[in-house]
Amino acid sequence: MGLCLGLLSAPVAVAQNLGAPVILSPYRSLHGADNRPRRLPHAGVDFGGPVGSPVLAAADGTVSRIIEWPMGCGLGVLLEHRRFKRWTAYCHLLGVTVRKGQSVSRGEQIGMVGTSGGASYVPHVHLEVCTLACSSHSDGDLTGTEDPLEVAAGCFEAGRAYPADRFVLTFPVACLPRARGR
Ligand SMILES: [Zn+2]
Repeated sequence: MGLCLGLLSAPVAVAQNLGAPVILSPYRSLHGADNRPRRLPHAGVDFGGPVGSPVLAAADGTVSRIIEWPMGCGLGVLLEHRRFKRWTAYCHLLGVTVRKGQSVSRGEQIGMVGTSGGASYVPHVHLEVCTLACSSHSDGDLTGTEDPLEVAAGCFEAGRAYPADRFVLTFPVACLPRARGR
């Protein structure tokens, strides 16, 4: 399981044979998903993935809004995780497969990976954790944001038990089985 970034110190003891997704730009990073320098630190984490592949809810929640912000997030989804007073935003989507008010479960598809908004033509999901309802933050504006990888339990695995007493995320893109010998 060492390949999955951001595992909690006491992960649920289930053998994990999934390859970690590509993280193109972590929180506070000063480089973009396209590897060019950012002027100001990144407010979320960018996960790479093929265009059209599923974007997954990072935790159980409710669709708080569908984001349409051509200059920034592009097409996106904001989920509310009420119990924990947290919101997660998913940006640069190709399409959205949920509607406002809908309840979603961890790992459920909410959209498709795309390059909408300021995605620099690199297909990826910008995942952001907010302590208030947000619509994703511009570089440099980290107010009310948290590092998603600090609370990430790795790839989503169907059937795995996740902690219910604290806010735990799983990655917003599917992880493929690890190739043998890698
Ligand atoms: Zn980003």
